[in-house]
Amino acid sequence: MTAKRADDSLEQVASEVKVCPLCELCRSRTHAVPGEGNPEARVMLIGEGPGWHEDQQGKPFVGASGKFLSELLLNAGLSREEVFITNVVKCRPPGNRDPLPDEIEACSGYLERQMELIDPDVVVTLGRFSMAKFFPGERISKIHGQPKEMGKRLIVPMYHPAAALHQSALRATIQEDFDSLPKLLADRERAREASRQQEDRPSQSTLF
Ligand code: URA
Ligand code: SF4
Repeated sequence: MTAKRADDSLEQVASEVKVCPLCELCRSRTHAVPGEGNPEARVMLIGEGPGWHEDQQGKPFVGASGKFLSELLLNAGLSREEVFITNVVKCRPPGNRDPLPDEIEACSGYLERQMELIDPDVVVTLGRFSMAKFFPGERISKIHGQPKEMGKRLIVPMYHPAAALHQSALRATIQEDFDSLPKLLADRERAREASRQQEDRPSQSTLF
């Protein structure tokens, strides 16, 4: 993980992404898609890469899977405005092919900077490429919906909405996994509040 530079910002990351030449995907893109949302988001969602609509508009998750993602978020009591949504690769792989390992690697610095800057409490990975960043070698069918504490964050792997959209069994699964988010967030909030109160309590040495 890169250390946060004092002068870095999400706008800076976005402006670099828009003209980024670091991998082959720069040659076929219409627009790079840096990501968007609340800079103070407690929840950050990481997809795979822009599709056709995202490449046209320069915004993440604006096609059919984006519409489904908005629904999943709303059902979990979250609006798109309060979360931050981005992707593992910021430019569209031609024909929606899988991103290649060297493309994922070339793009990783932007994702790391976005994570440092937003500093979310909970990261939701959507699909296997995003999952592999945090759970290398794991299978999504085995670990979806199971939160894991990593450093100061909770990482929750989930199926990709595009995969779940047209398969009714997966659709029910991703809905259930998203529905677990409010409780996770509430539990995190309670734990944070408890540790804050712990810090505020005078220690033995200051009592006497
Ligand atoms: N699928 C993704 O993984 N990301 C998008 O932004 C859109 C579709
Ligand atoms: Fe740069 Fe990432 Fe786009 Fe490749 S996918 S050109 S690394 S922004």
